[in-house]
Parts: sequence; C-alpha cells; structure tokens
Amino acid sequence: MADSDVRVRFCPSPTGNPHVGMVRTALFNWAYARHTGGTFVFRIEDTDSARDSEESYEALLAALDWLGLTWDEGPNIGGPYGPYRQSERMADGIYADVAARLLQEGFAYHCYCTPAELEERREIAKAEHRAPGYDRHCRDLSDEQVAAYQSEGRSRVVRFRMPDRDWTWDDLVRGPITFAADQVPDFVLQRANGEPLYTLVNPVDDAMMRITHVLRGEDLLSSTPRQLALYEALGRIGVTDGSVPSFGHLPYVMGEGNKKLSKRDPESSLQWYRDEGYLPEGLLNYLSLLGWSMGDDIEFFSKEQLAEAFTLDRVSPNPARFDLKKCTAINGDWIRELSEAELVERIVPFLVGAGLVAETLTDRQREVLDAAVPLVRERMETLSQAVGMLGFLLVSDADFAIDEADATSQLTEDGRRVVATALEALESLDVWDAASIEAALRAALVDGMGLKPKFAFGPVRVAVTGRRVSPPLFESMEILGRDTSLARLRSACG
Ligand code: GLU
Ligand code: ZN
Repeated sequence: MADSDVRVRFCPSPTGNPHVGMVRTALFNWAYARHTGGTFVFRIEDTDSARDSEESYEALLAALDWLGLTWDEGPNIGGPYGPYRQSERMADGIYADVAARLLQEGFAYHCYCTPAELEERREIAKAEHRAPGYDRHCRDLSDEQVAAYQSEGRSRVVRFRMPDRDWTWDDLVRGPITFAADQVPDFVLQRANGEPLYTLVNPVDDAMMRITHVLRGEDLLSSTPRQLALYEALGRIGVTDGSVPSFGHLPYVMGEGNKKLSKRDPESSLQWYRDEGYLPEGLLNYLSLLGWSMGDDIEFFSKEQLAEAFTLDRVSPNPARFDLKKCTAINGDWIRELSEAELVERIVPFLVGAGLVAETLTDRQREVLDAAVPLVRERMETLSQAVGMLGFLLVSDADFAIDEADATSQLTEDGRRVVATALEALESLDVWDAASIEAALRAALVDGMGLKPKFAFGPVRVAVTGRRVSPPLFESMEILGRDTSLARLRSACG
C-alpha cells in the first residue's frame, strides 16, 4: 500500500518504438512515486486506432520490464481505477458519457464547420493579423441554424467552450506560467465519428484516476491551459471533486547540433540500446541526468538511489543535451559494477546472437568465458563488444578468420618470420601458462631477434586472435590452449 497520496502516471501512446525521451518521463514519474511513497500509474493512451498498434503496446510493456520500472496500477495488474487501456475505457463508454454531460451542461457545444471552412477563415484571420484559432462560429447557433446544418447532412464535432480568462499555474519545474485568454481557443474534444481525442481522454483519465502530479515533457506545455479549463468543468459536472493536479514540465532533450532529439535519431530508440548491450542500470543512470541532478557532482547511482534522492526542486527547466559518449562511459562503469559471474551471464545472449555459442554453454565454453571475461571487463563499455573481443576464443577452427587489414599490416614477410620463430619457441614449451608463454616469446623474439616488443608481439597477436587489438596476448593463448594456439601460428606462417 502506498503511504502517501501522491499519484503520478506514465501514459504513452503505443505508436512506433519506445524511445529514450519516453523512458526519461517514465523514470522521473517512477522515481517521484518511489521517493514519496506514492503510486505509479501506467496507462496506455490507445484511442487513435489509425496510429496505435498492439506490437507497440507489447514493446512498451517489455521496455518497462527490461528497465525494471515496476508500476503499481496498470496493464496486467489492474488497480482500483481500471481499466488502464483507453481503448477499453472507450469501449466502456466513459468518454462518450463525459462528452454528453459536458454538452448537456453547456461546457461544450457542437461545431458543424467543415475543414475547408475552418481553413478559409484561418487564412483570413491570418491576413488580418488576428489569432488564427477557432473563431467560435458555432458557439451559440440558433435552433434554425442547427436544423439547417443538419438537413445539409453535415457532421459535427464536440468543442469545448473555453472560459474567457487567462490561465495560470505554478509549474513544478518552471515556476509561474500564464497563457492569455486569446491564446487558448475552443478546442475539439470528440471527432464527428464519436472518437474522443487526446484533449478529452487524457484529462478525464487523470481526473478519474485521481492523479495528483502530472510530470511530462515540455512539448505538452501548451495543452495545459486547456486541461486546466476542462478540469474545472469536470469538477462542475461532478466527475471530480474539483481538485486539479499540479503540473511539471520536464525539459527538452537535445540531440546533435542542438536540435531536439527526434524519434528518428537511431540513438533515441530504446531497442538500439538493448541490441548494443547497454545495461538497464547504465541507461537509467544516464537518463536520470537529463534534466535532474543529484548534487555534489554525483553522477553514478542506481535507480534505488535515484528514488531515494529524487525531488522536483532538482529538475532543471533548461534543455538537457543527450551525450551518447557519456551514456556509454557510464554504461562501462556499470559493467564493472557487475560481478564476473553476472557479467558472463549478461554477455552470453550476445554470443548466442552472434552464433558463437548455443544457449546452453558447454563446460569448455563456460571455462573459457570465466577465464576470459576478467581480461576484458576493464575495457568493455557495452555487452555486444564481447563478440569482437572474445569471439576468437570461442570460434571453431574452421570459422576462425584473420582480419584482412590487420593481416596485411602485420603478417608481412618479416611478420611471418616472427610468427615462425614464435612457433618454434612455443612448440617445446613444457608448461602452457601465460607466464611461461611470455618468457619463451620474450627470449625468442625480443632477446633472440632483437625486436622491440611492439614488433615482436603484433604479428603473433594477429595470428592467434585474428586482430591487432585483443585481450592480453599471453593470457589469451593460455585460455585458447596449446593445440589451437600452435595451429593458428602454423597456419599464419604458411
Ligand atoms: N499520450 C500522451 C503522449 O504520449 C501523454 C501526454 C501526457 O503525458 O499528458 O504524449
Ligand atoms: Zn464550427
């Protein structure tokens, strides 16, 4: 049970793929609920049948699951104010009923204007430097006018009758904000076909679900005056007790070139982070820095620590810049936060995806990973890097291939001579461990051939690992084993 009255909501529309801006909003709401001991409501705004999809709905649920952002009321678990999918609420007639009551009580009216008429009058208004919003044409139609429109067979939408006054609220993030009356024209609540619009369903549900704090992106700021007015009306017709939630608008997230991060930017897609092997811990940590700060320059913390510290006075109104490098570096820190065993577990799906291992590891594969992961964890920033870093240890002899560019630069005639010398020195080695391998190679290549270490070990590394950049060479050869190591050296000097 929640031990405070705070009720916040995350209410995405299931269109397209979940993106990081959306996750940031979910995270801040979750953190505020957890910080205050309140309730985190998850609601799906899927009344736009042309744009919403079941696939996207599933992706949203999977996203929150993956991130570990648990909800207290919402899909799958229900709650006292369900259902939590607006498509189901619409089927229950909730919005049609509210619209009918708003009409009945005079808070809304039917508008018969056609799109062409609206457009024409908008153009005239613009030319005459008047506000281009709806001109209230149908606000007070006489019975005769209504009858005439109806006999023409015109369809009609439901419009909200905006009270003639300014709208002010004390934004939780941005302080006092005022919209002048003429900035907020009468707006459509319901389409001609009876479909309710966002302008109706969102505040109606916030009201019915007793939401106390609306924390959402700055892009929605201009809809707040309309919602305040609708709230007032909902109180008057008895849908609410007249209370109004507090609003806080979270800052924009800016991408490259100081443009708003767009859904179309590849690094805005949540799936991209999963595919690249970002940890949910790392991504959440980074996203919480977009517009919020813990203070004292602390930038590395868990979501539990975030919840502990999350207050709204630390949310900044200034645009936040999305910095993929920083996000990736924080992810690397989170990788090093995992135990070695845990890191192996998290890497395996990426190795499976690359076809290097099957879902159930063989004993040998497990041994290889247990030994090799400690060698690379210091350098890893994403889990998918394990494929490139460790692939040479897991790949079959038949599939082992040397990077072409690295072969060209390292396995020259001189390089192959180095490899041949290394092979000779190692063939007679008694004990196959990193220290013995290193000693034998130094003796043969550095002391024997008089090579600088860089020139001595470069060709050997490429021959054995297939790349110029690899985990530590001698340890790698130990893990790989004598037979495979020698076979690779042999084939490289051939
Ligand atoms: N369904 C809306 C959206 O996805 C929610 C807006 C709000 O938080 O009020 O943008
Ligand atoms: Zn009209």
